[in-house]
Amino acid sequence: MNCFFCKGSMKPSTTTHFVDLKKCMIIVKNVPCWECEHCGEILLDDEVVARLDSIIKKVSELVTEIAVVEYDTAA
Ligand SMILES: [Zn+2]
Repeated sequence: MNCFFCKGSMKPSTTTHFVDLKKCMIIVKNVPCWECEHCGEILLDDEVVARLDSIIKKVSELVTEIAVVEYDTAA
């Protein structure tokens, strides 16, 4: 896989995903991603994006302020 922006090579990595939903903020740690070795751009697989959506939907129903969850164990 190559970087969308600079065509550099992407390596498997993990990132932290933040979402600010006005009523609360959700932080998902250890999200698997691709990271460009050249420019540092982060890319998420479609299945990871889908899983993040369901984690955020579920967690947002439970918290009122800030939630910090692990990608692997959430939802
Ligand atoms: Zn790049």
